[in-house]
Amino acid sequence: MVAMTIPTTIETPNWERLAACADLPGATQLFFSDELHEIARAKNICATCPVMVECLETALERREQWGIWGGQLFVAGKIVMNKRRRGRPSKHPRPEDQLPQIPVPEHLQHLPQLQTA
Ligand code: SF4
Repeated sequence: MVAMTIPTTIETPNWERLAACADLPGATQLFFSDELHEIARAKNICATCPVMVECLETALERREQWGIWGGQLFVAGKIVMNKRRRGRPSKHPRPEDQLPQIPVPEHLQHLPQLQTA
């Protein structure tokens, strides 16, 4: 008879150990910020991450609602390419308000979470 063992810890998937945001101080604040400069910084970290595709696939599977995952900005469960600064829109868009554009991998582009706005 094989003894049943109940896992006492949740295993971290191997790919998560390679995440560029792992052990990054203040990562939660940065990757869930409403501030455009912080969103841009988080996306730039993702752009260097060796597990960006795995991260995005997992976030889509989990139906993440908010935050930066796999280089993409999730707002109310949708991937959005840009986010407006709070308040009245500027007549002259500021260059620093342009978020880094990271392409969504082709095999994920059909998913309903994608919003082209
Ligand atoms: S893609 Fe971004 S959010 Fe995902 S593990 Fe890498 S750095 Fe973290």
